[in-house]
Amino acid sequence: MIGALKDSYGRQIRDLRVSVTDRCNFRCFYCLPHGEPPMAPKEQMLTFEEIEEAVRIFASLGVNKIRLTGGEPLLRRDIEKLVAKLKRIEGVDDLALTTNGYFLPERAQNLKDAGLDRVTISLDSLRPETFKRMTGTNVLDRVLEGIYAAKQVKLTPIKVNAVIVRGHNEEEVVEMAAFARTHDVAMRFIEFMPLDSGHEWSRAMVVSGREILKRINETFPLVAEDIARGAETASRFRFADGAGGEIGIIAPVTEPFCGACSRIRLTSDGQIRTCLFSKVEHSLRDRLRSGATRDEIIDYIHGVVWQKERSHQIGAPTFVQPERTMSFIGG
Ligand code: SAM
Ligand code: SF4
Repeated sequence: MIGALKDSYGRQIRDLRVSVTDRCNFRCFYCLPHGEPPMAPKEQMLTFEEIEEAVRIFASLGVNKIRLTGGEPLLRRDIEKLVAKLKRIEGVDDLALTTNGYFLPERAQNLKDAGLDRVTISLDSLRPETFKRMTGTNVLDRVLEGIYAAKQVKLTPIKVNAVIVRGHNEEEVVEMAAFARTHDVAMRFIEFMPLDSGHEWSRAMVVSGREILKRINETFPLVAEDIARGAETASRFRFADGAGGEIGIIAPVTEPFCGACSRIRLTSDGQIRTCLFSKVEHSLRDRLRSGATRDEIIDYIHGVVWQKERSHQIGAPTFVQPERTMSFIGG
């Protein structure tokens, strides 16, 4: 590894999230309620070759976890080809993808064959009406099929993400915990963050990780996993009665975990974001396309990472929601 990537607070960057498209076939109200704004021109999107080159450079600097995301990453044509390219890169130990699950019933096997290690699937409700209200689509059954398909082809360990929003699905967390037990998956409950394109987020809509945990614990007693959390976003719990599955609580609003953050993001148009809530972006695309040497690009990346924000400041009076939403930044 040439010169590990560290920021000015001593945090080492090990985890790169690559958004491969801004497009999405869902309309989750907490992310993209009014649909996508006009797309960036195609020529501004990173090609697979450029993404491969970027990942190769990051991997040489100690980044060993790569997650493909979006928008909906399975809308990017031939994403399996990109998976195969990234899987071959030395130093990439963990290649994952976050998806809404819609295309998984047909694509899970191809993704596995291409070399994908595992998937995270979003599932905000097990009730068709609530699912529809939250995602803008009426396809709960397909997403469930997608989860089963991923399990069958061993895109494991499978994580299932639910954003919990007051008045929508907080009453359902125990049912979702039961789902984790039955299907032996890690069910992760995420606090609603101010990253929605509708700018409708309010503190009152946030259901705290603590409340979620309390609700689940009343029915299914939980035991904290006895492992160092490190840079993981989730606090992890297993079921006290030894049932399969796991519970993860991701509480960036009420219990920020910025101090151990090891993540950095690359948008589909080639901008590095050092935090979900960054106000500035850094154009890796310009460097990749300007004929810069590998050493120049590495120097540039070191300089960008050095500027990584200390914390997200959601609770601060001066907090301003970033212009780009989760679907652009890549969750
Ligand atoms: N379309 C894919 C999906 O939904 O899984 C991948 C991209 S999506 C932006 C990645 C993750 O971000 C999803 O699990 C989604 O639930 C989460 N997310 C989106 N907007 C969010 C918000 N405002 N607060 C918290 N999580 C959010
Ligand atoms: Fe699409 Fe994922 Fe955003 Fe939902 S959370 S609108 S599936 S990008």
